Order: sequence, then C-alpha cells, then structure tokens
Amino acid sequence: MARVPWVDKDECSGCNLCVANLPDVFRLDDDGLAECFNPEGASEEEIQESAIDECPTECIHWQE
Ligand code: SF4
Repeated sequence: MARVPWVDKDECSGCNLCVANLPDVFRLDDDGLAECFNPEGASEEEIQESAIDECPTECIHWQE
C-alpha cells in the first residue's frame, strides 16, 4: 500500500503552500490548517518534493 502523508496540525501555520502546490492532495480545514484529503492526488515523489520538503514548519510526515 502506498504511503499516506499526514499533517501535524499542532505545527502547521496555515501558510497554504502545500495546498497551492498540490491542491488535489491537500486542503485547509475549517480552522485554516492543512490536511491531506486525497493521498493519491499526486505521486509520492511529488508529495515529498512539493509539500514535505517545502513545508516551512516541517509538519508533513509519512504515515507508514
Ligand atoms: S506547507 Fe506546512 S505549514 Fe504550510 S499549510 Fe502546508 S502543512 Fe501547513
């Protein structure tokens, strides 16, 4: 099974970068914090490079 990204919302600043980069994977919840709503919306490589590696608070992780 593919790995699933998850956002540690305690650390998310709501900067929207991951949503802007991968709108088919991440969205902001009602509190303005990111969440993964579709782990299959991009390849693992894209999620790693465009979200996990870019997140300024390093709060996106792989759920193994
Ligand atoms: S890039 Fe990181 S800090 Fe910014 S909204 Fe996404 S998870 Fe939150």
